Amino acid sequence: MAAHGDGFSAAATEELMGQLEKRPICTIVFIVAMQKEAQPLIDKFGLVKDVNSPFPKEVAWVLFNGMYKDLNINIVCPGKDATLGVDSVGTVPASLVTYASIQAIQPDLIINAGTAGGFKAKGASIGDVYIVSSAAFHDRRIPVPVLDLYGVGMRKAFPTPNLIKELNLKVGRLSTGDSMDMSPHDKESITANDATVKDMEGAAVAYVADIFKVPTILMKAVTDIVDGNRPTSEEFLENLAAVTAKLYESATKVIDFISGKCLSEL
Ligand code: SAH
Repeated sequence: MAAHGDGFSAAATEELMGQLEKRPICTIVFIVAMQKEAQPLIDKFGLVKDVNSPFPKEVAWVLFNGMYKDLNINIVCPGKDATLGVDSVGTVPASLVTYASIQAIQPDLIINAGTAGGFKAKGASIGDVYIVSSAAFHDRRIPVPVLDLYGVGMRKAFPTPNLIKELNLKVGRLSTGDSMDMSPHDKESITANDATVKDMEGAAVAYVADIFKVPTILMKAVTDIVDGNRPTSEEFLENLAAVTAKLYESATKVIDFISGKCLSEL
């Protein structure tokens, strides 16, 4: 039993989670690594940049928010690197913004939306939008018992069987690492993770969300085929605009589906 006054027992926490799952979803935070990926959604939902940002003045993190239907929609981007001016992609900025967004906005649901490399051997094609079933890391190799599993850090996404069926979306596992290319070591781990898509943020967002038990959906649109014959960065840049449009289309459908529903109906 929990000690007096220091929090909830496991049963009480479960009961509370159950009640929350039956309440309509109100507040959503999208975590989006690149502002180019976020812009169509910002426009569609009519979001505006929050001038009273809840984030510390030192960070470049950007928050856009507004109401769309009955939903309070927030899009958080890690912003530009202070020295180099490029998008702050990767797991470190993604974890920080996820942590800060949970603290400041207390969302009912997090959606990590972005682009990813896809494996054609697992059925992925350019422009496919995947709902991720689970996310794990492929560049945290720690060959020590149990720490090996910590390194892989597999987390399940919030299950959304009705959403997947209704919107006819593909489902696959995601593997995350801090490199866009794929070393032979990464390849081995990605295969062990049984991944269909590969990105640079998803498992980090899932890790932080899991700490605070915030349900999380990960949507990944395929910009490049990792096991194809084109150089990844060339294919990525060529397809970014068109694939971002696909991501936008699916994210809009997801939001329309979520509107008026509670977590247990997803
Ligand atoms: N050069 C780009 C940044 C590329 S970083 C620019 O600034 O315009 C790649 C981003 O797309 C990351 O956020 C990552 O999550 C995603 N991504 C797309 N394809 C990927 C792949 N094959 N491997 C890893 N991440 C990929």
